[in-house]
Amino acid sequence: MKIILMGGPGAGKGTQAVGLVEKYNIPHISTGDMFRAAIKDGTALGLKAKSYMDAGGLVPDEVTIGIVAERLAQPDCAKGFLLDGFPRTLAQGNALGDILDRLGMKLDGVINIEVDEKILIPRLTGRRVCRKCGASYHMIFNAPQQEGVCGQCGGELYQRSDDTVETAQNRLNVYNQQTEPLIAFYTEKGLLKRINGDQAIDKVLQDIMKALV
Ligand SMILES: [Zn+2]
Repeated sequence: MKIILMGGPGAGKGTQAVGLVEKYNIPHISTGDMFRAAIKDGTALGLKAKSYMDAGGLVPDEVTIGIVAERLAQPDCAKGFLLDGFPRTLAQGNALGDILDRLGMKLDGVINIEVDEKILIPRLTGRRVCRKCGASYHMIFNAPQQEGVCGQCGGELYQRSDDTVETAQNRLNVYNQQTEPLIAFYTEKGLLKRINGDQAIDKVLQDIMKALV
């Protein structure tokens, strides 16, 4: 099974990626993980990526496309793969098309996990942190017993500045702007599978697998 997995911040993409690679027994190809590992191991690629990140910029497309091309050519990808975090832009989508053509591969589907922003915003802004001991809570997934009070040390809970509604909305807007052309691109090719991400984790996985049959 050759899949691209897409989904914005808070949509549960990471959780579904774990389930899918297990069900289909395919490698999970996350460009983010590959960069982090390369940087940690100090490889040539890692040093190159780090030099861009240290300068405050994004890793350029040509570097990202290069590592994906190398990875997809490895033998374990012959029977399938799950691409996560790539492609993120239309240019990357076109480049991936060329890579797959060269390898004689065809995508089975592009999964887009969709969750309404009304549901995403509370997910993305629910974190509360204890001022005293640093314990972390989430108003939906792991709420403190007493609002605003740490259950471990009694300290005051606060919301970090990067967890505000404004920041969350910003992240969603950036993601949507970036991926809209890509979604249109895969819709046109008949590959896009729209999945309702506002369901139990198992149900979302089932829906994805049904869409891929
Ligand atoms: Zn505490």
